[in-house]
Amino acid sequence: MDCIFCKIAAKEIPSKIVFENERIVAFEDINPQAPVHILIIPKKHIPYIAEIKEENISLVGELIFTAKKIAEEKGLTKDGFRLVFNNGKNAGQEVFHIHLHLLGGRKFGWPPG
Ligand code: AMP
Ligand code: ZN
Repeated sequence: MDCIFCKIAAKEIPSKIVFENERIVAFEDINPQAPVHILIIPKKHIPYIAEIKEENISLVGELIFTAKKIAEEKGLTKDGFRLVFNNGKNAGQEVFHIHLHLLGGRKFGWPPG
C-alpha cells in the first residue's frame, strides 16, 4: 500500500520513533509546529477518524493514552499540551492514515486557524 505512515510503521522509511508497541508507533513530526510535535499512529491502516468503527474504540483510546504518557515524559503536563486529529478537507488532513498530533512547549491560540 502506498501510505507513508504504513511505511513508517513498517520501518521502510526512517523516522525518529519515540514509542512503539504491537499496535502503535509514535514519532517526531518532520515539520514541527511546536517545540514538541509528535504523531501517534496505529500500525493498522485506517484512513480517516470518520471511518473508525466500534472495534477500533480501544485502539483510539490507546493513541490518546500514549500521547498522555509521552506528554508526561516530555514534561508537558504542568503547562499543558494540545492533542489534534485532523479529519478531511476542511481540517487540512494531508496524510490519510489516522494520526494524533501531540503538540507542546508553547502557548496555542483558540479558536484554531
Ligand atoms: P495532517 O495535516 O493532520 O494530515 O498532518 C500530517 C502531518 O504529517 C504533518 O504535520 C506533516 O509534517 C507530517 N509528516 C508528513 N510526512 C512525514 C514523515 N515522513 N515523517 C514525519 N512526519 C511527517
Ligand atoms: Zn497507512
